[in-house]
Amino acid sequence: MPKLVVQKFGGSSVATVDRIKKIAQIVVKTYKNGANVVVVVSALGDTTDKLIGLARQIDFNPDEREMDMLISTGEQVSVSLLAMAIHKLGKEAISLTGAQVGISTDSAHTKARIIDISTKRIKDELKKKKIVIVAGFQGISRDENITTLGRGGSDLTAVALAKALKADICEIYTDVKGVYTADPRIVLDAKKISVISYDEMLELASLGAQIMQSRSIEVAKKFDIPLHVRSSFSAGAGTQIIKEFKIMEGVLVSGVALNKNEAKVTICDVPDKPGVAARIFKEIAEANINIDMIVQNISRTGFTDISFTVEKVDLNKATKVIKSLLPKIKAGGVLQDKDIAKISIVGVGMKSHSGVAAKMFRSLGKAKINIEMISTSEIKISCVIRKGKAELALKILHKEFGLSKKSGSNK
Ligand code: ADP
Ligand code: ASP
Ligand code: MG
Repeated sequence: MPKLVVQKFGGSSVATVDRIKKIAQIVVKTYKNGANVVVVVSALGDTTDKLIGLARQIDFNPDEREMDMLISTGEQVSVSLLAMAIHKLGKEAISLTGAQVGISTDSAHTKARIIDISTKRIKDELKKKKIVIVAGFQGISRDENITTLGRGGSDLTAVALAKALKADICEIYTDVKGVYTADPRIVLDAKKISVISYDEMLELASLGAQIMQSRSIEVAKKFDIPLHVRSSFSAGAGTQIIKEFKIMEGVLVSGVALNKNEAKVTICDVPDKPGVAARIFKEIAEANINIDMIVQNISRTGFTDISFTVEKVDLNKATKVIKSLLPKIKAGGVLQDKDIAKISIVGVGMKSHSGVAAKMFRSLGKAKINIEMISTSEIKISCVIRKGKAELALKILHKEFGLSKKSGSNK
């Protein structure tokens, strides 16, 4: 039986018509090697940002159903152009939207979750020997509205299709050669990692390494779908994302990540009583806002401050929810802070080593970078710092934990 390959091409890989012609060649080469090929494509370059910009010229918080209707159009442009480029190379290809391939989701517009994928249409087209090109990032809800899967959601489309179709490989083609020890755009001597575990990649992705959408890694981990992140501009092996194996623990820190897309909300003078935090975060959850870090101090006066971080796009919504809650919980006020950044170190080796946090804090301290919030898990440590110091902190930690090119090979 021929192999089934899912290949995903990100926005930078389809930024221009010339690039689309280039990736058509990659796809056709895979097809000619005897594989069934399902391709997932993102919108051209920064199309999605531009579409969001258009909406914001009308309303900063537009209706989310209409927003999905708008931003899902980007991927429809790229799938059809890629199909045409493949036709030009003499092969049969068909482009399909998320709805046409039966990617059904819940109704959480702009961050919908996939509920089910009906593979019938794709399988029928593959049987006709066609290359199937699916619009990434989109689905359709039970009430037949177009939904999108959160920024970077084409990765999720690819992984979910790989699972539904029982694909042999899921390849993520992007504008860098693989997953690096830090964002190579900021840390120029970052190294390409050849193999990384799902857990580390999940942490890196959710802590700001934009290279893959974190939810896509969650799905890949849950169903054990091996991923290969590689370059669409040059051949050669990229990064394999796979299940953790013993030898990985030898590396203390695998990568550092930076997130400048969060903001901090502080609720001042909150009565220190049972049930208050539950009330606050229940309302936030009901507004469909994801919380990242939470810090609550001990109270010596019967009142305390609670700070938490949210995605910047959710900041106004979160503040509104809290404002309306203030009189009900008898809290003092609410403050916003957009000038924060979260810097994180990630590595499965941390499980079995002590002193990693101390080293991180010492390195930041030496550079006079103040730590405002801290959160840890078994394999990561994150600190909230001032946004102005973010790049400096990233470079310092990358060097201190021996990840620079000069420090030898990584894995
Ligand atoms: P695509 O358009 O293919 O989806 P993205 O722009 O979403 O690509 O992600 C690729 C970008 O992620 C790279 O250009 C790189 O600058 C950035 N990036 C951030 N952290 C990392 C990392 N640790 N390794 C590789 N790339 C990273
Ligand atoms: N085009 C969408 C975005 O920019 C989805 C993706 O690129 O994966 O977020
Ligand atoms: Mg992406």
